[in-house]
Amino acid sequence: MNHETFAINPTSEGFDREAFKKEILSNLKVLYRKTLDTAAKQEVFQAVSLAVKDLIVDRWIATQKAYQKKDPKFVYYLSMEFLMGRALGNNLINLCCYKEVAEVLNEMGLDINVIEDQEPDAALGNGGLGRLAACFIESLSTLNYPVYGCGIRYKYGMFKQEIRDGYQVEVPDNWLENGNPFEMKRPEYVQTVKFGGYVRIEWDNERQRNRFIHDGYDAVHAIPYDIPVVGYGNNMVNALRIWDAQPVQEFNLASFDKGDYLQAVEQENLAKNIVEVLYPNDNHYSGKELRLKQQYFFVSASVQLAIQKYKETHSDLHKLPEKVCFQLNDTHPTVTVPELMRILLDEEGMEWDEAWEITTKCCAYTNHTIMAEALEKWPVDLFMRLLPRIYQIVQEINRRFLIQVEEKYPNQYNKIRSMAILYEGQVRMANMAIVAGFSVNGVARLHTEILKKRELRDFYEMMPEKFNNKTNGITQRRFLLHGNPLLAQWVSEKIGTDAWITDLSFIKNLEKYADDPKAQKEFMDIKYRNKLRLAEYVKAHNHIDIDPNSIFDVQVKRLHEYKRQLLNILHVMYLYNQLKANPNMDFYPTTFIFGAKAAAGYKRAKETIKLINSVADTINNDPSINSKIKVVFIENYRVSNAEIIFAASDVSEQISTASKEASGTGNMKFMLNGAVTLGTMDGANVEIVEEVGSENAFIFGMSSEEVMAYEANGGYHPSEIYHNDMDIKKILDQLVDGTFSHGDREMFREIYSSFLSPSYGRADQYFILKDFQSYAEAQARVNKAYQDKSRWAKMAILNTAKSGKFTSDRTIEEYVRDIWHLEKVQVEL
Ligand SMILES: *Cc1c(COP(=O)(O)O)cnc(C)c1O
Repeated sequence: MNHETFAINPTSEGFDREAFKKEILSNLKVLYRKTLDTAAKQEVFQAVSLAVKDLIVDRWIATQKAYQKKDPKFVYYLSMEFLMGRALGNNLINLCCYKEVAEVLNEMGLDINVIEDQEPDAALGNGGLGRLAACFIESLSTLNYPVYGCGIRYKYGMFKQEIRDGYQVEVPDNWLENGNPFEMKRPEYVQTVKFGGYVRIEWDNERQRNRFIHDGYDAVHAIPYDIPVVGYGNNMVNALRIWDAQPVQEFNLASFDKGDYLQAVEQENLAKNIVEVLYPNDNHYSGKELRLKQQYFFVSASVQLAIQKYKETHSDLHKLPEKVCFQLNDTHPTVTVPELMRILLDEEGMEWDEAWEITTKCCAYTNHTIMAEALEKWPVDLFMRLLPRIYQIVQEINRRFLIQVEEKYPNQYNKIRSMAILYEGQVRMANMAIVAGFSVNGVARLHTEILKKRELRDFYEMMPEKFNNKTNGITQRRFLLHGNPLLAQWVSEKIGTDAWITDLSFIKNLEKYADDPKAQKEFMDIKYRNKLRLAEYVKAHNHIDIDPNSIFDVQVKRLHEYKRQLLNILHVMYLYNQLKANPNMDFYPTTFIFGAKAAAGYKRAKETIKLINSVADTINNDPSINSKIKVVFIENYRVSNAEIIFAASDVSEQISTASKEASGTGNMKFMLNGAVTLGTMDGANVEIVEEVGSENAFIFGMSSEEVMAYEANGGYHPSEIYHNDMDIKKILDQLVDGTFSHGDREMFREIYSSFLSPSYGRADQYFILKDFQSYAEAQARVNKAYQDKSRWAKMAILNTAKSGKFTSDRTIEEYVRDIWHLEKVQVEL
C-alpha cells in the first residue's frame, strides 16, 4: 500500500524519535536476539508494537489513576463479538504519532505499510454487530468515557476465506500464533464459572429463609486479557477485556492417583472447548449447547468482576446502578440478567424485590435484527441442565412478569403467548432482555419503528417508556483518517481544520466545494489514486487487471440472502446479455466488486459465491465484454482490506430487501469515503438519503411497507414475472443451461428453483425478481450519471460532506445522554 502523504495528525508533545528508534532495536534484541538487518518483518512488527505499547501503558496507568480519583460510572459493553481489525495503525493514529513513526521507520529503511501488513486482523466477530462494538469502544475512549468492552478471547476468530475453483473454503484463523503484542494477561482477576450440577435447598435459620446451594457442577477458570482501546489525542486508554478459559485443576498425575482422572479430563476439555472458536453465523442463531456455554462463561466472569470491583470501594450494592450499566449487544449476553440476580440473591443475601430493582436499573438491551431465524430461543431442558440455578431464577422472573401481564390484560392469552419468557419449552432471550432491561433500543429509525409497530408491538404497548432509537455509526478515525489518508488530508485542507477527527459535524463545511471545479478535480484525483491502490491489491491477490477509470461498483458485506448479492450478480448477467446483443449500447465500463464470507453451514450463500465467481470467470475471459464489464470477488473480506475498498469505491451497493437490514454500517463507511449509495429504503439508508438528498443517491425497489404487506399475504408469484419478462426469463434459464458453468446444468439449479419451485420456504422469499426492473433502471441511472464527470464529483463530495451524522461519536453521545448517563473523565499525563 502506498500512503504518499499523511493526514494532518498533530504531533503529541514529547514524542521522542530517537528514544523510539532505540526501543525498537532493543525490543528486537531482547525478544529475538536480532538486529534490524537480520530480523524478519513479523519480528519487526512485534518490536514496533511493543514500543507503541510502552507509549500506551503510560496513558493507561494515567487513566486508571484518574478513575481511582473520580470513581466514575462505567458502561460494561457486553458483546460476543468485537471485530477489531488491526491495532498498530490505529493506535498510532490515536496516539497522534502515526506520521512520526512512519518517518522513523522510513529512516530505518522500513515501510510502515509493510509493517502494518504483518499484523493479523483481530477478527473476533462476524460482521456489522461486532464491528459496531469495536467502533463504540473506540468512540467511548475518544470521548473520555469509562468503558469495559467485555467479550471472549476466542482462540480462533472468524475463519479465513479461500476461494478454490470458485468455491469458499474455510481455513482456521490462528490469530494468536505469533502472540498479540498489545494484550495484557490479568491472572489476578481470575473468576470461577460453574456449569451443570444441581441446586440444593437448605433452610437458613439465621435469616429465616431458604438458601440455594449449587452442587455437583463442573467449574472453569476465566482469565481476562486486556487489550488497550486508545482514545484520540486525549491520553485515555480503556480496556477491551476478553476472557480465556483454563481448567480449575491442572491435569496431573496427582488427580489420577486420587481417582479424579475423568473429572480432571472433563474440566480440561470444558475449558479448552469454551473459547476455542467464534461461531461464524451472522444474523442466524444456532442452538448449540457450546454457544450457550460461551455466553454464560463470559457474562458470569464479567458480572462477577464488575461486582468485585464495585465492592472494593463501595459498601452499598443498592447503589450499583449509579456506577454500573450493562449494555447487552443483542440477546447473546442476556444471561447477564439472571446472573446478576443470582449474585445479589445467593451471594449477597438480598431479597427478590431489592435484587430485581437493582438488576433492572443496570441492564439495557440493543436489538439488532427482526429476522426470525436470528431470535435466540433455548430449549428449556438444555438450559436447565447447563445452568440449573440460573434457570430457577428465569422461571421466577417469568412467573412474576406473567402476573403483571395478567393484571394488565386479564384473560388475553395472546399477550402471554407473545411476551412470556418461557413458552412452549423454550427460553426466549429477547423477551427476558426486554422485561429486565430499563432500555430497549433499535439501531436505525426505520428499524426501531418496525420494532414498535410490529415485532415488539405488545411490549411497546405495555412499556413504551423503555423504547428508543440509536442509529448506528462508525469511527472516522479508522475509516477515513487511517483508511483514506489522501482524502483525510484533503478534507483538513479544504475546511481549514482537522477538528472533524473528533467532531465529524465539521465535515459539512465541504459542502461549499461541491460545485467548485478545482475541488471536484482534486476529489476525483484522490478517488483515482485510491482506485489504483485497490487495483494493485486485486492484481496481487486475484491476478486480474481492473481499470481504475471504470466505475468501481462495490458490494462488500456478509453473504446473506436478505442482503441480495444474488440480485446484484443476476443484474451483471443481464448486462452481459444486453452488451452481447447490442455491443454499441451506451455503457460506461464498470467493475463489479464483491467481497463476502458465507457462514460455513449456509448452503445457499455458498452457492451464491460460486455463482459470482463463475460469472466473473466467464465475463473476465470474454474479450468482447471484458473491456466493458469486469467482475471481481475479493477473497477474505475483513476490516483490514475493507479500509482499502471503501476508499476506492464509486458506488455503494446497499440493496437488502426493505425491512430486513436493521441499520447497516458498511453504507456509512462508503458514504464517508465519497461513494454514492445505490440502495433500497432500508435500515440507515433511509437516514443517509435524508442527509444527502435523494438527488445524490440512487434509490430503487419496494418500500418496507410493501414488503411487509406481501409477507402478510404469504408472498407473491415470481413465476408471473418469469413468464412475462423475457430478460429475466433469460438470466434464470442461464442458471440451468450451462452458460456460466461450462455446460453443467445442475450447478445452479437450487438457485433457479428458489425462484420458481423452492424445495423449502416461499418462492423468491427476498423479492429479487419483484425488485429487478427497478434495480436495473437504477443501475442505468448510475451509469449515465457517472458519464457526467462534474455531476458525479459533486454527488461524491456531497456524500462525504453530509456524512457527519454517521460517526459513532454521535451514536455514543446519544447512548450516554439517554441510557448510560456517564460523565467525562479527563486524563493528565
Ligand atoms: C462494516 C463492516 C461490516 C458490516 O457491513 P454491512 O454492509 O453493514 O453489513 C461487515 N464486515 C466488515 C469487515 C466491516 O468492516
